[in-house]
Amino acid sequence: NGGSATVSGGGGGGGGTGRDDGGYKYWLVMDFEATCEKDDRTWPNEIIEFPAVLVDPTTREVVDEFRSMVRPTERPTLTRFCTELTSITQDQVDGAPELKEVLQSFDAWLSSHGISEDGALSIWCGDWDLKTCLPRECERKALHGVVPPVLRQWCNIKFPFCDVMGSKKRRGMDGMLGELRIELVGHHHLGIDDSRNIAKIALALAARGGVESVAATSHARDVSMYRKANGLVRAREQAAEAVPPQPLSPSHVPAPAPAPMSAPATTKPAAAAAAADGA
Ligand code: AMP
Ligand code: MG
Repeated sequence: NGGSATVSGGGGGGGGTGRDDGGYKYWLVMDFEATCEKDDRTWPNEIIEFPAVLVDPTTREVVDEFRSMVRPTERPTLTRFCTELTSITQDQVDGAPELKEVLQSFDAWLSSHGISEDGALSIWCGDWDLKTCLPRECERKALHGVVPPVLRQWCNIKFPFCDVMGSKKRRGMDGMLGELRIELVGHHHLGIDDSRNIAKIALALAARGGVESVAATSHARDVSMYRKANGLVRAREQAAEAVPPQPLSPSHVPAPAPAPMSAPATTKPAAAAAAADGA
């Protein structure tokens, strides 16, 4: 598998309608792999694999996949530990585009499905990818306004897993697969295989607990890395224009502020909210 973007399918259009029958039109199941060194917590992780599996939760089918390897620039040579963990080789990243370009390709792929701003729930195994890894890398590389807005909120699948399975112990991907009696297919810690396996966990939880049990658990607090959501901004501006100016008189009672177009997804379940990060 070469280093450049492997984007199959496309087209689709149609999306962007947000929730449908109580669920999202699509799930976007993702899992980054990054440079690393054993026992080194100070290592500045750079994303080296950027995969996404687009699932229709209604039909339970994989609609499309996006995958690109990413070339690290801060520490371009992969450690032996990193290659052993992920199975990703130096050759695969050497010919790959840098993160900014991959984010742009990913955004275009999302747009081809109508979901770059909303209409899909991104699902991850933990909070590390969107809460720590990507924000820190974007900060170090001064990448602002480049991440598709659909990733401003996400589902950490460990929380629905605990809710649906009645489990107090949060498990890693392999532990969740084991408890659900689902075979781990492919190489654990290779992003595309992890994403496909996490998608199976999400589908199994939806089958047991209903599709709405797989919901947003977290949202971004710092939005500087995200591209502005054009659709939402335009809709807000139009809503503001549609309201005629109110006369200012002593008897004037201000109308309640219009509801925000997109409330922040602080929808972490009570049990989950009490727990820590969940990465
Ligand atoms: P995962 O999603 O569990 O495959 O891990 C994502 C990324 O976290 C990996 O690509 C590594 O950069 C880092 N990582 C995972 N496990 C370890 C570990 N045991 N030691 C150091 N880094 C790790
Ligand atoms: Mg992984």
